[in-house]
Amino acid sequence: MSLDAVPGQMRAKRFLKQLIQTGQIPHALLFSGMAGIGKAHLAKEFAKVLNCLEPAAADSCDRCASCRKIDGGLHPDLLWITSEGVFIKLDQVRDLRKRIQYRPFEGAYRVIVMEDARKLREEAANALLKILEEPPKKHIFILLTLEPQMLLPTIVSRCCHVRFQPLEDTQVEQELMRTCQLQPTRAREIARLAEGSMERAKWLVEENRIAHWKEILGHLENLHNLSMIEFFDLTARWAKQSDDLEQDFLCIKLWLRDIILARLVKDHRPAFELNQIPAGIRDTSMEYLFSLYDQIEEAVQHLRGNANKQLTLEGVCLAIKDSSYGQSSWDSFSQRR
Ligand SMILES: [Zn+2]
Repeated sequence: MSLDAVPGQMRAKRFLKQLIQTGQIPHALLFSGMAGIGKAHLAKEFAKVLNCLEPAAADSCDRCASCRKIDGGLHPDLLWITSEGVFIKLDQVRDLRKRIQYRPFEGAYRVIVMEDARKLREEAANALLKILEEPPKKHIFILLTLEPQMLLPTIVSRCCHVRFQPLEDTQVEQELMRTCQLQPTRAREIARLAEGSMERAKWLVEENRIAHWKEILGHLENLHNLSMIEFFDLTARWAKQSDDLEQDFLCIKLWLRDIILARLVKDHRPAFELNQIPAGIRDTSMEYLFSLYDQIEEAVQHLRGNANKQLTLEGVCLAIKDSSYGQSSWDSFSQRR
């Protein structure tokens, strides 16, 4: 696949091509944006253009020996660094420093791609910074990250920052049909829920997760009918059985976003089939819906901080159940307990 054939990311691709055309290639690039939108893919394709033996129109030929070697993971001048365990360690950066002492073996450039650069431990980040301060000739560093704010500002300032955008639904849909051989209707259904991320789309395809999300929707639509005993019984079971509560919260967020957008935008195309919006949620104030949305985002942060799963889920579900009162769920939560 060539640079042009990577789905979406028109702005990033245009920018990279300009760099090739002008020949002014920065020694360090930072690709940032959510997971599954093509950062790693574009980094590999850029490495191909830089080393292609027969490039045309600022893109790779996709056929020459160099292109084929990069595609096969066999090119000696493409170094791909990923975390070992949780972190990218100092030893890995030291090892890198040794490997870049010499000129590229066979390519025009040696390209070093560092995946998930926020996983650099502090001492490793400082060692990398030293390399970036005095970069060896013919070496291009490409750092990939979800959150640039999690990197050392001194590293960010050394890089040319390229921001990636979520993919369009239609691009996700076409990729799903191409790579997972999905039928158009199913590809469309999943693309609407993937929020522009191929990684999330593929995650949804696995193990019939759409069915699980529909089950969650069923819970949400029925919350207001439950007695408090039934409510606590449901949330206890849900928290215990869920293999990824953070993703369940994402589903709740998408559902709520659909409800908010349906009120704000006349011809909004919802991610879910919104057949039954509970009366409380339908009639409550917009302020309450927005605060509920914030509360779900907070809950995700709490989960990442190892908060109790069941209590976090109860807080959010109770706020949905209580929405007809339009009051803070945390208050009602403590009163009811
Ligand atoms: Zn080529």
